[in-house]
Amino acid sequence: MKKPLKTVWGGDFTAENPAERATLSGQATEVPKTQPSVAPVLKFQEGERQKPPRVSDTPPAPSPPPKLTDYQPIIGEAALDELRFLATSLRGKTAKMVNSTAVGGGVAEMLNRLIPLLGEVEVPTRWDVITGGNDFFELTKAFHNALHGGDYTLTNEGRELFLAYNEQNQQRMTFDEDMIVIHDPQPAALINARDKSHARWIWRCHIDLSNPNPEVWEFLRPMIEHYDAAIFSSPSFARQLPVPQYLFYPCIDPLSEKNKDLDESVIQRVCDDFGIDRTRPIITQISRFDRLKDPVGVVQAYKLAKPYVDCQLVLAGGGASDDPEGAVVLQEVEAAAEGDPDIIILNLPPWCAIEINALQRASTIVIQKSLREGFGLTVTEALWKGKPTIAGAVGGIPNQVIPKLTGMLVHSIEGCAYQIRYLLTHPEFAMQLGRNGQEHVKENFLMTTNLRRWLLLFRIMSGTSGN
Ligand code: UDP
Repeated sequence: MKKPLKTVWGGDFTAENPAERATLSGQATEVPKTQPSVAPVLKFQEGERQKPPRVSDTPPAPSPPPKLTDYQPIIGEAALDELRFLATSLRGKTAKMVNSTAVGGGVAEMLNRLIPLLGEVEVPTRWDVITGGNDFFELTKAFHNALHGGDYTLTNEGRELFLAYNEQNQQRMTFDEDMIVIHDPQPAALINARDKSHARWIWRCHIDLSNPNPEVWEFLRPMIEHYDAAIFSSPSFARQLPVPQYLFYPCIDPLSEKNKDLDESVIQRVCDDFGIDRTRPIITQISRFDRLKDPVGVVQAYKLAKPYVDCQLVLAGGGASDDPEGAVVLQEVEAAAEGDPDIIILNLPPWCAIEINALQRASTIVIQKSLREGFGLTVTEALWKGKPTIAGAVGGIPNQVIPKLTGMLVHSIEGCAYQIRYLLTHPEFAMQLGRNGQEHVKENFLMTTNLRRWLLLFRIMSGTSGN
């Protein structure tokens, strides 16, 4: 018989299918929409070591965005003064940001914080979200995958659909602001409204265009070339373009639930709930259960290191519930971890920011052994918490992890195992990496740095940078 699994919402279930699970536990068979469709797993081996974890089964209400002064204890008064100063020559200018979703995803999360801050420094910025039918969003999802290098055949119908939805949005929007920022490919064709506006137009690309599907890129390229500037998240993500290009790293908000300081009691509570022993070293990887994050490679590296250094491995992620591939990867991870009571696998719902924050803060070492990566925000989050970090040398990770200075880069399972052993046996060095990493994030990857970049770019774009 199958061993009972423990869910992070409490209760023991023997079935992984939600409907079956509900029947077994005597509840209604309807699974609330907010819950992932596969039972989240908190897997413990022999001898349950903990109480049922207390993770909310619904997302918490969003907290109000922070004010600029809330960042003062983090970046200091001089940095705040600099932001205010940069904004002075922009007085009277207005901006608009356009993207394709108001909630969910990193772009919306970032805009939710950035736009109030721009308003606070008196650069009133409007946020518009384009609308479209399922056919449009299916198409743009396919574009997204193709721009990441996937195979795709762009049909004439696809081209027309994309342009028609953009045209529809253009008709219902106004473009009276001084700076218009279009995020990502979905609304890229709004540039067709350019001649009717006096604005400077900026395309902010959040995706990796290093190896795009040629058909999709050739379709989008003439639109992008019509902008006044393009922004990419890493030099390696950019394309050759005849317009000025700027580098804006992604950023994290140090005041968000995921990154704010936590009381020691909260960290302890989360570890107790998840059966993590804080008296022994804790190695953690937080990631969606995705092969490109190589969670099985992390288990193998841990197993290679374990005979030499005592430690526990925490693999916490989500996505295994709404993504069939994620569920398969989760099973592979469980199989790789089978029989080791020191491997703790957590499949968390997406709103567990505090838990993720606490797990990162409780960690002795954070790993992000990705085989391919976008920017790798989990690395930013770990560095911000001063954690010695071991990460795959892919995507935007080398911008964050400077070997032997802000962390360790690895290229293999063996390399990862070696670094686990090394850092656990050289704690002073490990702590220094963590301190440097935190400083690196403070300089380059915080929301306030991002605001600074926007203000500088707006000054350049509006010709006020000399004032
Ligand atoms: N994350 C989360 N829950 C999980 C796994 C990841 O909230 O179960 C968060 C993680 O803290 C980070 C983001 O999702 O903020 C992942 O971003 P990253 O750039 O590392 O990878 P992606 O998933 O976008 O490839």
